[in-house]
Amino acid sequence: MFSEKDLQVLLDYSAESQILSVYLNTDPTKTSTEAAKLKLRNALKTIDLPEDIQAVEDYVNLEYDWSAKGLVVFSSKKEGLFEAHQFNLPVPTRVFVGERPMLRPLIRLIDTFTGWSVALVDMQGARFSSFDFGELDKSRSVSGEEVKQAKRGGGNAMPGRMGGADASGKIENIIDQNIKEVIDIAVDFFTKHRIRRIMIGGTEENIARFREALPKSWQSLVVGQFPMHMNASDSEVLAQATEEALAAQQKQTRALVTQAITLAAKGGQGVIGLIDTLNAIHEGRLKTLLVSQEYEEHGFRCKGCGYLSGQRLDSCPFCGAQFEEIDTAVEMAVRQALRNSAEVKVVVDDEHLAKAGNIAGILRY
Ligand SMILES: [Zn+2]
Repeated sequence: MFSEKDLQVLLDYSAESQILSVYLNTDPTKTSTEAAKLKLRNALKTIDLPEDIQAVEDYVNLEYDWSAKGLVVFSSKKEGLFEAHQFNLPVPTRVFVGERPMLRPLIRLIDTFTGWSVALVDMQGARFSSFDFGELDKSRSVSGEEVKQAKRGGGNAMPGRMGGADASGKIENIIDQNIKEVIDIAVDFFTKHRIRRIMIGGTEENIARFREALPKSWQSLVVGQFPMHMNASDSEVLAQATEEALAAQQKQTRALVTQAITLAAKGGQGVIGLIDTLNAIHEGRLKTLLVSQEYEEHGFRCKGCGYLSGQRLDSCPFCGAQFEEIDTAVEMAVRQALRNSAEVKVVVDDEHLAKAGNIAGILRY
């Protein structure tokens, strides 16, 4: 499975020659092999790297087994680079050429689909799954004492009848005991698998009980809930989780874009547009970078300190060195932001960010 370490290697990768980056949607439920190949051929028509095009076409025609939903390939024959990664997630079909691998769609996949857990809960126990990149990774179940639902509540427990109140009190105790056990296992599971986002499935009542019992720090990571039976199949859990993950990501990036634009308008801790955002990155003030997945811009980079600029300058205002022209200033900015430990959010389909110049940021100070 693709890991954050693989991403790190790609982030650090630099070459003298151009690199072809290919993202291909091969979701067998959405497209045929032939249709995907045709889309790829059309996308590659605009690219002038014949050796790399050949390498990619050979790979999809001869080696790729087409079982995955998405394929990502980086190729630079001149540099001896050829890497193919498969994902059980759909990726948009796009090709890019630049001095670096195009990583934004991959960053978005990692941000959206890693570090998740689904907790299915009922009165007796719970089932926890973690999933990364659209695949179930680990799971663990916990089951406490059986709760006989028929006796719960007032319905069958006649008031005044001997034992009625006692029985329902006993059942509450069992449920309380079970939830304590479930929470212990939950915290252990979330910690061990470095869970960053949690979804809960079950009845409304069971979800609420689990949620309230969770320690506050984990409560804040709950981003979704849905009705689901404890015995749901892994593929049902996965399908629901994938949908929820996308929705949660969209909601989060929209909120951050609004925040950045509002802060920038107040002249506070926000920037919009390429020039201001590049300056904030250079000053190390950026906390969160928000950037459209497709946005790219020609720019200039200082050969001395690496300062990125949207405009041609005679010499660097920071170190006095000369500038070189680069054709992927935005992708470079993403790398610099990550190197400065900023959080990078790759945004798709957000008209507010598009209006703000396709790039914006929230500042640390
Ligand atoms: Zn400089």
